[in-house]
Amino acid sequence: MQSSDLELSDLASKASCLDDYDPNAMSVTQARHYIQQFLSPVSETETVTLKDSLGRFLAKPVISGMNVPGHNNSAMDGFAFRHAEGGNPLKVIGTAFAGAPFTSEIPAGCCIKIMTGAVIPPTVDTVIMQEQTSTEGELVTLAKLPALGANIRLTGEDVAVGQTVLTPGHRIEPADMGLLASLGIGEIEVYRRLKVAFFSTGDELISVGKPLQPGQIYDSNRYSLWGVLEAIGVSVTDLGNVADDPAALEKTLLEAAFEYDVVITSGGVSVGEADFMKQLLAKHGQVLFWKINMKPGRPLAYGKIGIAHYFGLPGNPVSAMVTFYQFVQEALKTLMGAAHLATPSFQVKCVNAIKKATGRTEFQRGILFKEGETWKVKTTGEQGSGILSSMSRANCFIVLNEQTGALEAGTLVEVQPFHGVC
Ligand code: AMP
Ligand code: MG
Repeated sequence: MQSSDLELSDLASKASCLDDYDPNAMSVTQARHYIQQFLSPVSETETVTLKDSLGRFLAKPVISGMNVPGHNNSAMDGFAFRHAEGGNPLKVIGTAFAGAPFTSEIPAGCCIKIMTGAVIPPTVDTVIMQEQTSTEGELVTLAKLPALGANIRLTGEDVAVGQTVLTPGHRIEPADMGLLASLGIGEIEVYRRLKVAFFSTGDELISVGKPLQPGQIYDSNRYSLWGVLEAIGVSVTDLGNVADDPAALEKTLLEAAFEYDVVITSGGVSVGEADFMKQLLAKHGQVLFWKINMKPGRPLAYGKIGIAHYFGLPGNPVSAMVTFYQFVQEALKTLMGAAHLATPSFQVKCVNAIKKATGRTEFQRGILFKEGETWKVKTTGEQGSGILSSMSRANCFIVLNEQTGALEAGTLVEVQPFHGVC
């Protein structure tokens, strides 16, 4: 069976048809691959103004209706002249400003003063920067003749009329907003926002603002999940925390699946609790429970309830975030219409030794730091899946693949930075 022909039910019931499918020992790459088989972008689109477009995914190509720049213009403050006449002092007969072109004739032996961005009159061909000239009265002398055509920005050199500037699936960044404005485009068509709801499960969880009774803990996953979902740009709904009670879970899950594109839960998918959720999900949807060869974040559930996609994350706060970043984020981007999914990563030296067993992928929390001129990484120390402060201190994941074992200090490791320039 080709995995591209897969139905969720095939994976759930006919897993034996697939040589590489073992729900109890799934590699990170396999799990990503399987999830991707069941995703397609939202089909509805909407038109948004440029100021509302940041982080949205383009649904239609943007084709330029004009040249940018629209006219040859000066790249410098200086003098515009005919190259052939540049060997002799030139008489300055006027000034061209950005937005106020010089329209009179420029007789032989003459030039004009020109400002950055001003239109180049058709009868001159070169600009010299002011600092490379000397002026005496009306005459300007060039210290050195620049190349023919120097310091002129040509019509259409940034964007030519008819050029496709942005393609569907492109995430709108600040530079794109400027680029679109430079083309006179004030509105674009983007995929509609994805509606994502989540809730936490666990009898022990208490919402912030209420006092803790013995044995209770504050529900932190709802806040870290809120943060990661907001950062991606989906429409987020927090459905609160739900006790480990089948009736309450069933009600919340079904209502959410009816209303949202994606439902995410945390907790209740680990051994011991999984059967409980399994029965519930088996009754209403097709959900796969996997044990991923990874640390932290071993249990993960993925499936569909009605037409909603469902992700069941582990309850441990670090595991919940790591599984979100490594599986759910990419899936959400696909559903949002993103054309590019790859997370940038690179290699740097890790200054400390790393404890690790082969056979599973680890996402250790790391701190990228600069020593002299070189960027290096160190681990945040204690790597337990309940140590949420390690995620807060970290600014990257150190990704150690299944083949990697313990590492000595000074070894090159792969890192995924949490943030870049933008
Ligand atoms: P579970 O996956 O439900 O077995 O939970 C695993 C661990 O994570 C337990 O120690 C839970 O108390 C803890 N946990 C589960 N959900 C949350 C949450 N929303 N916030 C903080 N800790 C949680
Ligand atoms: Mg629980």
